[in-house]
Amino acid sequence: SAKENARGDVVVFSPEHEAQLGSHGRIEQVLRTADLHREIHLQYQPQHDLLTGRVTGFEALVRWESPVLGRVSPADFVGIAERTGYIQVISSIVVQKAMAAAREWPDAIGLSVNLSAVDIMSERSMAGIAHLVMEGDIEPGRLTFEITETAVMTDFGRARKSLEMLTALGCKIALDDFGSGYSSFAYIHRLPLHRIKTDRSFITRLHEDTEPTYKILRAVAELSVSLGFDCLAEGVETEQQMAIVRSAGIRFVQGFYFSRPIGSEAVEDYLERHGMPVGREIYAPAWAP
Ligand code: C2E
Ligand code: MG
Ligand code: MG
Ligand code: MG
Repeated sequence: SAKENARGDVVVFSPEHEAQLGSHGRIEQVLRTADLHREIHLQYQPQHDLLTGRVTGFEALVRWESPVLGRVSPADFVGIAERTGYIQVISSIVVQKAMAAAREWPDAIGLSVNLSAVDIMSERSMAGIAHLVMEGDIEPGRLTFEITETAVMTDFGRARKSLEMLTALGCKIALDDFGSGYSSFAYIHRLPLHRIKTDRSFITRLHEDTEPTYKILRAVAELSVSLGFDCLAEGVETEQQMAIVRSAGIRFVQGFYFSRPIGSEAVEDYLERHGMPVGREIYAPAWAP
């Protein structure tokens, strides 16, 4: 029975598992007393258009620099923050800080921000985010919110309502990590999406499973375009991967091949080096459809 299974799991406790639980408890404990406004900061990873070669925008990625724990990666605290309710505070800080940074960039440069399933499921959280967008002093069309399929599948109706609220403000929506979970082609046309981001695991698998993985990427690219979305491949690390992604028909890419996530102070230089100097805006918005 389930009960016996649960007990069995406890019996086979490994030292690593125990250590992990210990660190989870510790992270939660530190999170409770953290000065998040001070300790949370963001890095930005460029997104490129392979058709024009241009930078179209940056994805904001949260970083927690704890005076107690040191740098904690989002993989280690986002889940805990979701379970303990801190994610709503974190999301609000992330949206505020990211918008403040993007205000300094050319209008042509977009900003993507990740939202958690917990945000999407909470009316209060969404109202808070809507308020920040409206007060934010940047064109809402520059903003893309990234959500995962897990977030959508928790409660489709509620997710759709939240996303429609964001698109009504003029923001865009990207479906993140597409293909990593229980992807269903059946629901995506019923969401107000602008972009599909293929999961990094596809790019990882290209190495060993080149032909089938290429075919899947190609199918996702075609599906995206035929539904009116654009398609971005995440996790492109090599020139060869970029060439494959390009020939699969995927137009947008993000990954270490172009750049690792960088600090906000390095964004201006990055744009300068890619032909989009801040303050001399002679180009059309790259985020416009
Ligand atoms: P994600 O939204 O899918 O972000 C992409 C992750 O892949 C980032 O990790 C990024 O640094 C990493 N990455 C990008 N290109 C490459 C590459 O070429 N190779 C490799 N190996 N990795 C690459 P990061 O920053 O550690 O974030 C991990 C996840 O944490 C994110 O996945 C997202 O789900 C979550 N996350 C990050 N920031 C936020 C946030 O502000 N709010 C929420 N709710 N979640 C966030
Ligand atoms: Mg993302
Ligand atoms: Mg992703
Ligand atoms: Mg990912």
